[in-house]
Amino acid sequence: MKRTTRIFLLIAAIIGIPFYWLLVSNAPGLQPGQGVTIAQLRVLAAQMPGKHPTAIEAAVLDKRDVPGDLLAAGTGIARLTAGVMSFHLLVPGSRAIVIDSGFDRATARQMGYERFNSEAGGRVEGWLRNAGLILLTHEHPDHLGGLAALGDDPQVMARALLPAAQLTKRPANLGPAWPTPAALASVRRMRDLPLQAVAPGVVAIRAPGHTPGSMMYFVALGDGREYLFGGDTVTTAASWKQGRARSHLLADWIAPEDRRAVLSWLTTVRALHREAPRMEIIPGHDIDSIAQTPGKQGILLQ
Ligand SMILES: [Zn+2]
Repeated sequence: MKRTTRIFLLIAAIIGIPFYWLLVSNAPGLQPGQGVTIAQLRVLAAQMPGKHPTAIEAAVLDKRDVPGDLLAAGTGIARLTAGVMSFHLLVPGSRAIVIDSGFDRATARQMGYERFNSEAGGRVEGWLRNAGLILLTHEHPDHLGGLAALGDDPQVMARALLPAAQLTKRPANLGPAWPTPAALASVRRMRDLPLQAVAPGVVAIRAPGHTPGSMMYFVALGDGREYLFGGDTVTTAASWKQGRARSHLLADWIAPEDRRAVLSWLTTVRALHREAPRMEIIPGHDIDSIAQTPGKQGILLQ
């Protein structure tokens, strides 16, 4: 081999191997699923008496363009728009349900976001103050920050129903706001069960992996439409469609997670979607994939 060829190969290896490992590798690959079935979720969704939600709207608090590889390893360096979102489930004749609170301006700044939408921030604050039930997919600042920012109001906190691992320890990169001890004491604690009904039409799925307190929520609307809120277990549409975990760069260094567990949950989500192909999977950050378009029962994005 010529010397120049050897040098070229050496340089390619020095750059290529870390690039592959940090951004492309999906090791250890999809893992066996958790055995959750759509039949179980539907039974629990029908368990609590009362009106199911009838519509879902979403607020986008901030967004930034990131390489797809970062959020779903090996899906290419083409950029996608990663949004920080809050979801509002309207229930006829009663208070609404909020899934994820997004974050406040201070937390957005702390996390390096630069386009905080004040109007959306005000809207989500109103949702949280008036909600009958507040749920979080997990305990990261871009999902609990909006709720933490209202931590001086025990009445708001009393509407939150959270597993023990959520909102107990102040996460890194959160703005200065944090609930007072009295407000924290008023948070309702979710039972430690793999699956449970938390409202008519709403089922909590314990899904530790991305974080210890990670949850997914199955929602059956009154008209039969079905949704699965995947949180950051399912960061983008490619995460579940292609069965790809977050990049090692993100999952090992920046926001450490149990990658094997996440890959097992992705198998579970794929199996649920095979059973219920019309169910919409709502990823934690992929705003372009969730919008309502003709023929797709997405979510009203505002
Ligand atoms: Zn997130």
